[in-house]
Amino acid sequence: MKGKVLLVGAEDEENLAIRYLGAQLQENGHTVRIVPCSNRNEFSGVLKELRSFHPDMVAVSMAFQSLAPMFLELIHKIKETNPHVHVTVGGHFPTFEFEKILDYKTVDSVIRFEGEAPISSLIDVLVNNENLSSVPNLVYKSEKDVVKENHLITEFPDLNRLKFPLRNNKPHTRLGERFATLVTSRGCFHSRCIYCCIGAFHKQKTGLPYALRSPENVALEMGKLYHDQKVRLFQFHDDNFLLPTKEASYARLNTLKRSLIKEGIELEDIALLIKTRPDGVDEDILALLEEMGTVGVFLGVENASETGLKALVRSSSVEEINSSIELLENFDMGVTFNLLMFHPRATLKEINENIYCMNKNKNLAFDFGRAEIVAGSPLENLVKRKRLLEGKWPHWDYRIQDDAVEKLFRLNSLTFYRENSLYPELSHKLIALSYRSHLLQHFYPGKKSGNLKDETERLISKVNTFTLESLIQIYSFVGESEIKENLNRLSNEMDVFYGNYAERASKLGEKMGRFQVVEKKFQEKGVGDYFQNSTTLGRIFRI
Ligand code: SF4
Repeated sequence: MKGKVLLVGAEDEENLAIRYLGAQLQENGHTVRIVPCSNRNEFSGVLKELRSFHPDMVAVSMAFQSLAPMFLELIHKIKETNPHVHVTVGGHFPTFEFEKILDYKTVDSVIRFEGEAPISSLIDVLVNNENLSSVPNLVYKSEKDVVKENHLITEFPDLNRLKFPLRNNKPHTRLGERFATLVTSRGCFHSRCIYCCIGAFHKQKTGLPYALRSPENVALEMGKLYHDQKVRLFQFHDDNFLLPTKEASYARLNTLKRSLIKEGIELEDIALLIKTRPDGVDEDILALLEEMGTVGVFLGVENASETGLKALVRSSSVEEINSSIELLENFDMGVTFNLLMFHPRATLKEINENIYCMNKNKNLAFDFGRAEIVAGSPLENLVKRKRLLEGKWPHWDYRIQDDAVEKLFRLNSLTFYRENSLYPELSHKLIALSYRSHLLQHFYPGKKSGNLKDETERLISKVNTFTLESLIQIYSFVGESEIKENLNRLSNEMDVFYGNYAERASKLGEKMGRFQVVEKKFQEKGVGDYFQNSTTLGRIFRI
């Protein structure tokens, strides 16, 4: 007998986690519906689907720790609506926190680690009234309220044999282009960063801590998206798009490039966004990535001091970071990065070195913050061991050992990251604008796209200059005791500045959108240059 499964997950873009599960379930003959839920306003959509679809099982993807309370609330409502439906949850967070999650009586089971094989087995067992004990990776409570942990799968699935994730009929649009996300691998060859749970997530696996899809298999999926859905922008969600050695990366990229051409993809007609560690790139690799249409690189800098990199167990060096940024500046790619300059052992010297890095790279879009506690990460164990843990599950907080850095972090939380601060959203907007300005250069090279790129760089530099000045002011407050007035003044200045620049960033995004719409039409008629060089048309379309 086959079953009906309702898959629920946050979907700001297609959620590959649930979409891989959906594809596997369909392959095994089950009926699947996917319903997005990224916030409480979407509860009604889930409940409506629950009433009309009558699923045998609801599977909730609880990948993000911050969203766990919201999903537990949703599950409560699901059970109020249909007390008999089996509710299972999965994802990184429940994989490690299954005991606490199973304390919620509304959750019937938790699927730990990767879910394709377990979810298919679970629905089979449910519709055929069999015993849950045969379902791999499953945890649940017995009738006597004892947590039962089933056997674990110790190998990665063969990624080349997995069905491609289910897609919507119409792709999302991002940066003004038809867009899809993909993964080319699972796990991570490094698997050691202190703030990351990926090492623990794949710890039970025998063999390497990561698995790869073949380049041919990746190209096949991209070809389908390109031809059937006219997708042009592909974002790779692999934490490391590149491999442990440069030789291996180069060979893999070369095969991917050849395979894309074989699939009938015009390389100049696609754009890629990737993430990589700084030690992963060299000139040949970047040249190949550029040829394949890479317009954005999120560089895993994470900390710009040797002691910080060591404390975060990044296994990369400041020299590698600097040389990769220098190298990347010779290529037409938007380079962005994040600095986790606050962590339990951070010192003021490290903070200085990170500020120095920001100042040196003011032309790039970046973000900064604290290494947060993710369930299953080594950081979680460290702060517990050092008795630095504060706050409440699942929103853990912790103290930084150095009092001055701790104070600096709290002052940052009261300014840059206070509730309703416009800075976090603006920094993400700038990252998107950086990628988009390079995408425009790639798809629509010419005078106007060049001007838009220059405008983006100026905007990013202005915001970063103000951010650095503010950060230095906050730094100067650390040694003072009477800071309330200064802090309020600075917060007000930030509101005005970031409010103003958030609006400018939105307007620039809109301008890029208008440019793309018009330039596409001119390109179709073979006269793209005419629009790029026309002052009159520029005035008409406000570009
Ligand atoms: S942060 Fe990135 S490099 Fe570090 S372990 Fe996680 S996935 Fe790997």
